[in-house]
Amino acid sequence: AKEQGKNNFQWNRAGKNEQVFAHMELENDLRKALDLRQFVVYYQPQINIQTGLVFGVEALVRWLHPERGLVSPGQFIPLAEETGLIAQISEWVLREACRQARQWQVEKSQYFKVSVNLSSSQFQQINLVDKVRDILRETGLHPQYLDLEITESIAMHNIDYVVSKLTQLEHLGVHISIDDFGTGFSSLSYLKKFPIHTLKIDRSFIQDITTDPDDASIVTAIRSMARSLNLDVVVEGVETIEQLEFLRTIECDKVQGFYYCKPVPAREFERLVVAGTLK
Ligand code: C2E
Ligand code: CA
Ligand code: CA
Ligand code: CA
Repeated sequence: AKEQGKNNFQWNRAGKNEQVFAHMELENDLRKALDLRQFVVYYQPQINIQTGLVFGVEALVRWLHPERGLVSPGQFIPLAEETGLIAQISEWVLREACRQARQWQVEKSQYFKVSVNLSSSQFQQINLVDKVRDILRETGLHPQYLDLEITESIAMHNIDYVVSKLTQLEHLGVHISIDDFGTGFSSLSYLKKFPIHTLKIDRSFIQDITTDPDDASIVTAIRSMARSLNLDVVVEGVETIEQLEFLRTIECDKVQGFYYCKPVPAREFERLVVAGTLK
């Protein structure tokens, strides 16, 4: 048993080294990924179930790694934050999403609001507002068609700073959404301080909404609070017709989820949405 324990220990150490090595390799690859044009933006439609129309689209980044294949943001965004690469990657995503949205306007006469995720560290960037303004100018996208998604976690930081940043962004004319609403453990007082437009209800509340009365109550309450605060609501993670029907009864009209469409590359999005073949 002792012998085995020793082997085990050595094996673990080798395992640890391998992990460190794999991590370093991934970090190296990530540094080169922008230059090598390995990032792609996928698009997921947001649908108004009253009208059946697509009113918006969320831009979601993917990394097309030559050996690993399609790497999801959950796997590399944390690494990108850790290494500071997030700033460049995010700027690229923002520019690409604005460029694409403008192209759909010019070439297809389709005016979607495009939602882009801002990481917390990106929000702390000193020149964020200038960057957004420059990118809008450069791509020709009118600010009313850009929606920036931030999470409640930014409300944990210096409130005055956050309010001033958001106010500057609002003056640019862009929309601000709170992503993953309800998961952030923050006080709701920021809702009256921040110039925001939309609450995106996290999909964890939707998963069991037809069977769990608590989830149903939470979503109903958020909906009614949002209405009295004059905020829009988008429900994330709608996967089934039953969820959709329930949301209809509580007048949550704006949804996003696999029921309609998973995130897809731009060409596929055109085929499905612009050509009007979405269900
Ligand atoms: P998120 O902003 O909450 O994005 C929604 C995530 O839920 C996406 O995962 C999407 O594919 C997934 N999703 C959409 N509908 C459904 C559904 O009906 N069921 C289920 N189970 N999932 C659904 P994805 O694309 O893997 O992105 C994960 C997270 O990575 C995002 O969560 C966002 O926080 C982050 N992320 C993605 N792109 C970017 C980016 O460009 N910049 C930054 N900073 N973060 C990003
Ligand atoms: Ca989001
Ligand atoms: Ca979300
Ligand atoms: Ca999320």
